[in-house]
Amino acid sequence: MELDPNDYRQALERASEHALDWITSLPERSVPPEIDVGGLLAAIDRPLPDDGADPAAVVDELATLAEPGLMAMPSGRFFGWVIGGTLPAAMGADWLVSAWDQNAAMRYPTPATAALEQVAGSWLLDVLGLPPESDVGFTTGATMANWTGLAAARAFVLDAVDWDVNTDGMTGAPRVTVLAGAERHTSLDLALRYLGFGAPTLVDADDQGRILVDDLRAHLDRVDGPVIVCLQAGNLHSGAFDPMRAAIRLAHEHRAWVHVDGAFGLWAAASPTLRPALAGVEDADSWATDAHKTLNVPYDCGVAIVSRPSVTRAALGTQTAYLIRDPADVSEPFDLVPEMSRRARGVPVWAALRQLGRTGVEDLVDRLVRNARALADGLRELPDVQVVNDVAFTQVCLTFGSDERTRAVTARLIDDGAVWMSGSQWRGQAVLRISVSNWSTDDADVRFSIEAVRRAVAAVDG
Ligand SMILES: *Cc1c(COP(=O)(O)O)cnc(C)c1O
Repeated sequence: MELDPNDYRQALERASEHALDWITSLPERSVPPEIDVGGLLAAIDRPLPDDGADPAAVVDELATLAEPGLMAMPSGRFFGWVIGGTLPAAMGADWLVSAWDQNAAMRYPTPATAALEQVAGSWLLDVLGLPPESDVGFTTGATMANWTGLAAARAFVLDAVDWDVNTDGMTGAPRVTVLAGAERHTSLDLALRYLGFGAPTLVDADDQGRILVDDLRAHLDRVDGPVIVCLQAGNLHSGAFDPMRAAIRLAHEHRAWVHVDGAFGLWAAASPTLRPALAGVEDADSWATDAHKTLNVPYDCGVAIVSRPSVTRAALGTQTAYLIRDPADVSEPFDLVPEMSRRARGVPVWAALRQLGRTGVEDLVDRLVRNARALADGLRELPDVQVVNDVAFTQVCLTFGSDERTRAVTARLIDDGAVWMSGSQWRGQAVLRISVSNWSTDDADVRFSIEAVRRAVAAVDG
């Protein structure tokens, strides 16, 4: 079949127009989707047609079918989970990554993406204040970035007791103790499960969800054999950071590998004002973060950082005749992540960092935190509303007097559609959870969002 450039031109022009329609609708549109999955399937589910269609018409059809089922996640009024939007340069870069269609596994066949990802990795280490010699791999998200750091940890601590996990696996291996805070993110448990560790041993946390160093010490004193300590930068509910310096020093005294899940919170290190809250984090052995959250690149992009390059490659690297290694014998992209074939998802990271520059990254992080504090300050003025966390970063948790009222306000707010915030359960009570992660949220969005919650409270109180 012949390649007709016009097919691409028309499909891409249609895509670009639909994309701009979507983006320009964000400031005005209602945040939740108009229809649920069942409703959308009722409208669009049908057998695969026998006949094909014109590429541009397919793009038109797709945009029309999807529209009622799209959530305005990139809106400045979306505060659910921890999501983030997309910076313009990152979006443009992401489109180019699709057009270039490079399989980013190896350096030799795809020098452009390998070099750009390497520069993006160095820039990330620089803005996050992490050791410049670390390996940086681009994964689907923080779940697999956690997996990558913990795979390196597993190889390292087992090698130290003369167990080669690559050859001998986990069956019959020396028992590895994995310690994690009681309020770790559930994705850490998934990563541990995928690595054959089972569930972590839990260390007590304080009222903000931070690991208690005394309890960590008590656990470490009891451990005999290989040990991995998992810390957290950025608690999902409070935004709080584990006490890095003290916990890492203690863990290293016990010859533990220290892994930090900093999916969104590691970005505090990019702000000179916030960096002291993470002091010492650079002494850990591995870190996981997301670019698709705080940095605002499109889904998906996680970042796996390991301070000991030979360990990542020993844990994840491979060699067969048909893969080509760089003659310089440096690590290949596929040595640093679980995937072999993958898109060059580090390229939008390069573009986001290039658009922002160092001061732009600082401003982005500071602005998210300022907005979170402004939301907390505005909302605590409402009747019977309590902010239940110290707003240390981008997260705010609210209660409305009783679990019942909190849940009713949350439901009413989502119904109203002007903003989107998630309900959750934290420290034994129902909460309305706010995560400020979108680069475009501004003062007007904050005022508007406070008004939306005020309306929801008034509607619930009747
Ligand atoms: C979001 C998040 C994760 C999981 O990241 P994914 O990108 O969804 O894989 C892990 N830890 C924390 C603290 C998170 O906020």
